[in-house]
Amino acid sequence: MKCTRCRAEAAVALPSHHSAFCPECFLLFCRRMVERAIHDHAMCTSEDRVLVALSGGKDSLSLAWLLKELGYTIAGLHIDLGIPGASPVARRITESFCSRHGIPLSVLEMEPLGLGMVEVRQRIRRPICSVCGQTKRYFFNRFALDNGFTVLATGHNLDDETSRLLANLLRWDTAFLADQGPVLSAQEGFVRKIKPLYRLSEFETANLSFLLGIETASAPCPYSAKATFPVYKALLADLEDRQPGRKLQFYEGFLKHGRQHFAAQGKTPLSFCRRCGSPTSTEICGVCRLREMMGAPAEVMIAISSPAVLRTQDVSGSAEKE
Ligand code: SF4
Ligand SMILES: [Zn+2]
Ligand SMILES: [Zn+2]
Repeated sequence: MKCTRCRAEAAVALPSHHSAFCPECFLLFCRRMVERAIHDHAMCTSEDRVLVALSGGKDSLSLAWLLKELGYTIAGLHIDLGIPGASPVARRITESFCSRHGIPLSVLEMEPLGLGMVEVRQRIRRPICSVCGQTKRYFFNRFALDNGFTVLATGHNLDDETSRLLANLLRWDTAFLADQGPVLSAQEGFVRKIKPLYRLSEFETANLSFLLGIETASAPCPYSAKATFPVYKALLADLEDRQPGRKLQFYEGFLKHGRQHFAAQGKTPLSFCRRCGSPTSTEICGVCRLREMMGAPAEVMIAISSPAVLRTQDVSGSAEKE
């Protein structure tokens, strides 16, 4: 199999793009897909300060690498969820990646905030992944706003986006459908959120991280078996096998024809949490209610700034030479 671009020996076959690429051309392909996503959706410019949400997984680390390569001003935030086995590994991988690539990294620890996920899981009745996801979204957003970032970038890939879209469609969840897309504009209390990897599939980001020599977390979250999105991912993967290119068409088609329809129906008007001031559809936001339930301190802003819970490690000075 030959590289579609340079005719060298191909390393990655991409039936959905009717192409195959050698390692070098594949990197270029990924770079172009991200450049196109950023350009088409006006995600960010060189003027922006971009915070990258770094989980320690292949997607977010590849995203940080690509954004840095493309010349954007980035810094990373890793949230240490306090899950034995998984969290220490994810944190070590993130720290070592940022150190290697000269990316400033902050680590926010959930345990000292009284929100370690082991304890949270013992107290809540809802599925842990929904509470964990809500908590991460809350702190990434707050951290970006409190520290002067203009954009929050996450490593959601095409499979994440299409599985979420399918799940939302199957439930006809109009509020979520109105909000789904590669860019969520800034509004009071919300930083702009972007998903520059949305055109790349999980297979493509896995190959990218492999070619970049990114170490992948070898200790998956022990609670991930309860997550529902893998079911939808498997259904879509089967469809993609039979009809290459279908996932991207599905998602792009939604952005072109569907999203505006749901957005036009209007969203639930947001007010602001009486405890922390974050946007919420209820009087007290979900994270403040969780903090109350866990007996955790309520002063979110103070807690975020406290050196006891937030260690900002500017490791750019210790970057190794590539
Ligand atoms: S699998 Fe669920 S609990 Fe584990 S890190 Fe992901 S969202 Fe959190
Ligand atoms: Zn090539
Ligand atoms: Zn709140």
